[in-house]
Amino acid sequence: MFELIQLKPNTPKLLRYEREGLEVIVLEKVQDVHFYDVAKYDGVLVQTQRRREATEILHEIRANTNPVISLKPVFLSSTLPGYSGISYLFDGTYSDAEFAVRIQSIKEINRRLKETKIDIGLVNYDTSLIQQTLKFCYSRGISLEPQRNRNSAIGFSYPFLSSVIEEKDSIRILKLLDQFSKVGYFAKQTVDVIQGCKKCSGGYLNYRETCPRCSSRDLKTEDLIHHFSCAHIAPESVFRKEDHMECPKCDKKLRHIGIDYDKPSAVYTCNSCDHEFQNAKIKALCVDCGHDNELHQLQRFSISNYELTPMGEHAAKYGMYEIHEKPVTSKPKCISLAMFGMFRKQEIERLNNTDTISWEGSIKLNSEMIKGFGENQQQLIREEVQNIISEYLHKADLITSASACWYRFILFDKDEEMAMKIGELVQNNVTKLLNDGLNDHTHDIELLVTSLKTENDRV
Ligand SMILES: [Zn+2]
Ligand SMILES: [Zn+2]
Ligand SMILES: [Zn+2]
Repeated sequence: MFELIQLKPNTPKLLRYEREGLEVIVLEKVQDVHFYDVAKYDGVLVQTQRRREATEILHEIRANTNPVISLKPVFLSSTLPGYSGISYLFDGTYSDAEFAVRIQSIKEINRRLKETKIDIGLVNYDTSLIQQTLKFCYSRGISLEPQRNRNSAIGFSYPFLSSVIEEKDSIRILKLLDQFSKVGYFAKQTVDVIQGCKKCSGGYLNYRETCPRCSSRDLKTEDLIHHFSCAHIAPESVFRKEDHMECPKCDKKLRHIGIDYDKPSAVYTCNSCDHEFQNAKIKALCVDCGHDNELHQLQRFSISNYELTPMGEHAAKYGMYEIHEKPVTSKPKCISLAMFGMFRKQEIERLNNTDTISWEGSIKLNSEMIKGFGENQQQLIREEVQNIISEYLHKADLITSASACWYRFILFDKDEEMAMKIGELVQNNVTKLLNDGLNDHTHDIELLVTSLKTENDRV
């Protein structure tokens, strides 16, 4: 026989704000994140005496696959010793005195989160991580500002992303943000530049002088002495006699620096290979992977502020498209006008029997402007514009151009919103090329995106 003892179920510590109808769950241990149903509370207060534990709790929340949890307002108790060093990762600190302000920000964050649509079916991890980041920035009304952090492999941390990606992989944060800035979700402003190891990108480097012949770090430096009266120059040790200095060339005593002699520079001697030299080679040893980098091999990364663009804000609210998820190596084909016509006809027929829609896009540049360029330049413009268009198309899509002024493309199997978005992106980027590359601010480009399905009815 045994007695069944029903333990009283563990209940979390809560801060309850009756008047506002808000409940904030207090988490003290990493395990709490999974033990309690964090999703159902309005916010989280992290209360621990250990910094490491606080960032781990935050990591468990921010890296959660459920966006309702990962985007929760999370505050850090200001009773944590040294809390100010990590508070930028949180939505703020919390003390009794700050409580009214926090209530306001919980309400505001949750209100803005409600405006954002939860995207399902984003196939790739990086894309869904960036989408969370966009929503995070949008709901907090912030840009991603780098904060100095000596534990991060790049020496800097970013809100949200640094709570998800491990410190040793921080370089990924920069790569991701740069990749998605190129697509147009963030506007980037460089605030610093760091150098990273050629092999592992790590930024924790030890710069030191090495022997240019054998790379040894075991060097002896010695001043060079220049004897004024006979112009002899040699290392100091050559001049040294027991209690005085004497010139080995003219045998005169050296007494006063500045009057008899000076020290124009230093000389290095390698203790490993005895090589003597004046210019040591500076190398940078990576503390993380041990690679000894030549200075010219170091990678340079810019540390920037990333601010949501209107397109980023749009994506935060209404979801991202898979526009940028193109394989880098395979681009859509540029084909002849005749081939294009053939594929177009085939596609119109195919659409007869399917529910899908395909689109034809057309971009026209001002022909007067293009005629102002020589034949070779026109060809360059043509290639450049085709490149830009292909950036935003799927590898199965098609492009053709009849001349440097007119480009056409087919977008297979897209919904209307996606087709229009691609058209808009192409238009914006071709316009940018004209403005920046050709310095032409006067001519708009003409964009038309039409459904091949409705074309069907007309054929
Ligand atoms: Zn040497
Ligand atoms: Zn001398
Ligand atoms: Zn390294």
